[in-house]
Amino acid sequence: MPIARAARADARPPTRPQAAGIAADPGLLPLPEPVSVRAFAANLGLEPAWSEDRSQLRLTSRWSRIEFRAGSREMALNGVRAFLGEPAVPADDDLLISPIDRDRFLNPILAPQLNEPLAPIRHIVIDPGHGGSADGTRNDALKLLEKHLTLKVSLLLGDMLEQRGFKVSYTRTEDIDLDLAARPAFAREVGADLFLSIHFNSARADVRGIETYLLTRQHQRSTGNDKREPDDAVALPGNAFDPWNAHLGFTVHRQMVRELEAFDRGLKQARFAVLKTLECPGLLLECGYLSNPEEGKLIGTEAHQRRIATAIANGVDIFNQTLKRLQAVREGRTVR
Ligand SMILES: [Zn+2]
Repeated sequence: MPIARAARADARPPTRPQAAGIAADPGLLPLPEPVSVRAFAANLGLEPAWSEDRSQLRLTSRWSRIEFRAGSREMALNGVRAFLGEPAVPADDDLLISPIDRDRFLNPILAPQLNEPLAPIRHIVIDPGHGGSADGTRNDALKLLEKHLTLKVSLLLGDMLEQRGFKVSYTRTEDIDLDLAARPAFAREVGADLFLSIHFNSARADVRGIETYLLTRQHQRSTGNDKREPDDAVALPGNAFDPWNAHLGFTVHRQMVRELEAFDRGLKQARFAVLKTLECPGLLLECGYLSNPEEGKLIGTEAHQRRIATAIANGVDIFNQTLKRLQAVREGRTVR
């Protein structure tokens, strides 16, 4: 990693790594100067302490526990596995993180009152992944096709959200082909306040669990990418909602992992086509692995499909309660 290299360069007298080291990559903008985790902790009233082997810097308060790992993008945020856009880099008695991660990911999760105000959610667009000739992933032994399961979970979720007073629209309600770009376009047309794309995953048979994706923040690389790419610099319409995506993603992901008692594969970022052009907050939810024999069997049952839908609906509800509370504070009202 370029930042890590700069941090270790002993030719440079200051211990603060220089972001300029990154410019060696052709076509890439220099990364912003990394910022101190200790200062971040002090701002939020958190107490920093190293783990015994100094591989982790842990920040705690009565309410929060955040763990940064030296040299890694992976971290833990109040029990939730999450991924930064850039690794936390050791520097003296501190770790340095990207200000993009601090300002557009961590602070929006921990202190949403500092985000640009967002009105409470009314209209939700649910996007059942794949459809028609696009089966998505499959488990032939269990006779499962992703496109059918995404539709089932989406319809259950939509019913639950309607019962809770939300208006719900779907990008598809039948087994039809639908372009990726048409999905966010539909959300824009109907003026959606929230977009949820429902998917299931596949990998080696032993891989299982839940993954939640936000649109990758501008100037960062996606969680699945080891290297930076020129495209990382492009500002996408969906990036206007980075802070709320972070808070929404954290809230829904935590709820799913808890309620489904699922393995936590983490809150990640990717430039998925369905998220790029949204004009509202949105997530892509990977609700489990069809390729895992046990998890696949579970996903095939209506009971589990209902649990998935309930967990997502509860997550959306909790997020919306936060929006309502913040709106009330702005208007000088108090709510229970
Ligand atoms: Zn899919």
